[in-house]
Amino acid sequence: MKKEIIVEVSARHLHISQADYKTLFNKDELTKMKDISQPGQFAANETVTLHGSKGEIGNVRILGPFRSQTQIELAKTDIYTLGIEAPLRLSGQLKDSGGVLVVGPAGHIEYKTGVILALRHLHISETKAAEWNLKHGQNIRIRVGEGESDDIKDMVFEEIIVRVDESYTLACHIDTDEANAANINKSTLGIILDE
Ligand SMILES: [Zn+2]
Repeated sequence: MKKEIIVEVSARHLHISQADYKTLFNKDELTKMKDISQPGQFAANETVTLHGSKGEIGNVRILGPFRSQTQIELAKTDIYTLGIEAPLRLSGQLKDSGGVLVVGPAGHIEYKTGVILALRHLHISETKAAEWNLKHGQNIRIRVGEGESDDIKDMVFEEIIVRVDESYTLACHIDTDEANAANINKSTLGIILDE
């Protein structure tokens, strides 16, 4: 049985706390641009600009809903552009993460921590994880470029971390640098390799 999954490309984005949003936008609620694949999550119309010692990146999109902590997820290329540093982390693990200046239309915040390079991961429901014998926190390997499109380089991504939650839609998330390495422009099919 082929364990096929969708590999989605996570472009740079941030999750934001309601208090920080108020500071940056002087508004109370995000406005939805479109839903994204994980249930309840959405891309907001609102964007911010990031500033580092070497440069700035505009139009960085906020993903809703609000979270308890602001988290800025960038690719390695982005942190070179900005001239900042950030560690490889799973979402939510912000201790000793990177800092950046975030500017919104109504204010700015100098974050000492909050910037991460997100580790690639697989979202999977408890039901599907049981069916495929996958455990929360385990590392798996996913091959892309097989058969579907000649444009995509046939590559295996190692160390994809399995995240199990009943609310999750089955999808693997990689960042734009990883996608570029395989010449993936948008979502593509991947296959989980057995050990
Ligand atoms: Zn994800």
